[in-house]
Amino acid sequence: MTILDGKKVSNDIKDEITEQVKKMVAKGEKVPHLAAIIVGNDGASLTYVASKVRACERVGFESTMVRMSNTTSEVELLDKIEELNTDNDIDGFIIQLPLPPQINTQKVLMAVNPDKDVDGFHPMNFGKMALDMSTFIPATPFGILELMDRYGVETKGKHTVVIGRSHIVGRPMSILMGRKGFPGNSTVTLTHSHTKNITQITSQADIIISALGVPNFLKAEMVKDDAVIIDVGITRVADDTAAKGYVITGDVDFENVSKKASYITPVPGGVGPMTIAMLLKNTLLARERHMQ
Ligand code: NAP
Repeated sequence: MTILDGKKVSNDIKDEITEQVKKMVAKGEKVPHLAAIIVGNDGASLTYVASKVRACERVGFESTMVRMSNTTSEVELLDKIEELNTDNDIDGFIIQLPLPPQINTQKVLMAVNPDKDVDGFHPMNFGKMALDMSTFIPATPFGILELMDRYGVETKGKHTVVIGRSHIVGRPMSILMGRKGFPGNSTVTLTHSHTKNITQITSQADIIISALGVPNFLKAEMVKDDAVIIDVGITRVADDTAAKGYVITGDVDFENVSKKASYITPVPGGVGPMTIAMLLKNTLLARERHMQ
C-alpha cells in the first residue's frame, strides 16, 4: 500500500512555483496577486483563507484578504467583486464559501470575471472543462488529478466511483475522470444520497473518490482489494482530548480500508494541501494569461 502524500507533493509544487516567481522577479515582472473575499466569521472559512494567504507568502505571490461582515448585502458583495474584476493589479480572486443566507451564491459566482476565476466555479470555465478546453480546473479535483499523475496511478480503463456530486468536487471530478487523456479515460459512476445499494457499486470500483463529508463512511467491506482510495472529506469531529477540542476526520475508515488499498490518501495530509497548491497554480496561470 502506498500513501498518496499530498503534503509532500504540495510542497514540491510550491517549490516549483517559487522558482518560477523568482524568475519573474529577476526579469522585473510583476508577481502573481491573489485576492480572497471572506464574508462573515465562520471559523473553518477563516482558517482556510488564512492558509491560502500563508501559501501565497510562501511562494512569493502578493495576496489580499478582503473581509466583509456577516450582514453584507448581495449588492455590496457584487460591488466588491466588480472592483476586483477591474483591478489590473489582481490576477485572480476567490470568494470563500459558504456565503450567508441573504446572498445568492450562484449569482455571486456568475459575477466573477472568468479570466480571474481561479477557483474555476464560473459556468464558462466549468463548461470549458467539460469540453476539454484549457481553463481553470477547480482546485480540489485539479489537486486529485495532479496527485494521481505524480504517483503514476493508472486510470485508463479503470472503473472510478465518485461519491458526492457537489459542484466543487464530485461533479467536476466525475467529468475529469471520464475525459480523454491521463489522468482520465476511466469509466465513471457518480453516486449521491439517492444512490441505492452503494456498497454493491463501490465494491466493484478500481478507484473510489469519496467527497460526501460523512466521517468514516467508507468501510473496508465496501472496497475491493487493491482499490485506489481518494478521501476528500474534511469534517471536524468533537474530541475533548484534542488540543483544539476537535479532530479532522475524513470520509474513509483509514485504519481498515488502508489494509486493502493499493494507494490511499490520508486525512489530514492528502487532498487538503493539494487543493491549496493547485489554487496557486491557477493563479500563476491567470498571471501568465494576463501577460499575453
Ligand atoms: P456537499 O456539497 O455537502 O455535497 C455532499 C455530496 O455527498 C452530495 O452530493 C450528497 O448527495 C452526497 N451524499 C451525502 N450523503 C450521502 C450518502 N449517504 N451516500 C452517498 N452520497 C451522499 O459537499 P462538498 O462541498 O462536495 O464536500 C464534501 C466533503 O469534502 C466535505 O467534508 C468537505 O469539507 C470536503 N472538502 C474538502 C476539500 C479539500 O480540499 N480536501 C475541498 C472541498 C470539500 P446529494 O447531492 O443527493 O445531496
